[in-house]
Amino acid sequence: LEEWERYERLIALLCSEEYSDTDTTVIPNAKIMGAVSGVLRQVDVLIDRRFDERRDRRIVVDAKRHARPLDVKDVEEFEGMLRDCAASKGILVCPNGFTPAAKRRATDFIDIRIVALDELDSLDLAAWDDCSSDGCLKRKSRGLVLWDSPSSALTPSGATSVFCVGKCDRCSNFHLWCWDCGKKFALGDEDEHQCCGEGGRDWFWLTAIEEEDDGARAVYLLLTGLRDVLLIERKPAR
Ligand SMILES: [Zn+2]
Ligand SMILES: [Zn+2]
Repeated sequence: LEEWERYERLIALLCSEEYSDTDTTVIPNAKIMGAVSGVLRQVDVLIDRRFDERRDRRIVVDAKRHARPLDVKDVEEFEGMLRDCAASKGILVCPNGFTPAAKRRATDFIDIRIVALDELDSLDLAAWDDCSSDGCLKRKSRGLVLWDSPSSALTPSGATSVFCVGKCDRCSNFHLWCWDCGKKFALGDEDEHQCCGEGGRDWFWLTAIEEEDDGARAVYLLLTGLRDVLLIERKPAR
């Protein structure tokens, strides 16, 4: 793997460790329709609300591969991207520092963080799951799954069910890791999968594309088979 691909994955992992929680999802290599430009923007890491489309917590993370320190121009370009992505905040990550002017230009909306390349030594990509979706199987370099922290749902009988949701960092497909039956599987954007099926439990995992209030399309991941349909997570549709 190219060092740069490893670096992007390290940044995604660091973001996931820092931000993924019950209300927040961390999406590697997201594509967002630009609100101003009307073209698809590639986002290294998107941190967004897990359950609804409000943008007030949306953070866009961009890793800059420059061998030189970041300068004012890098920050201004990033600021334009934040506006296009309707983000409330941005994080610029770079391995080689930034100029004092870049820091001043960043103001309150942009954090500049240095993550040194030698931190890659601690990254063990062998421990990451390969994407198992059909689309990725055809690629030369298959995507890896970035798992969120575990979530849980109450079953009708009052028991707690635990699972992890992941996203592929190439094709962006949802992945599910059901801790009740131990199965891991991928879901396309309009897809369904059943698991468990023992002890009176049937989990039906379902994905559907929905149009949100601002006209952007999102993929919703739902869990059915409970009394109510449970919204598990959402991500921008590609
Ligand atoms: Zn994939
Ligand atoms: Zn299961």
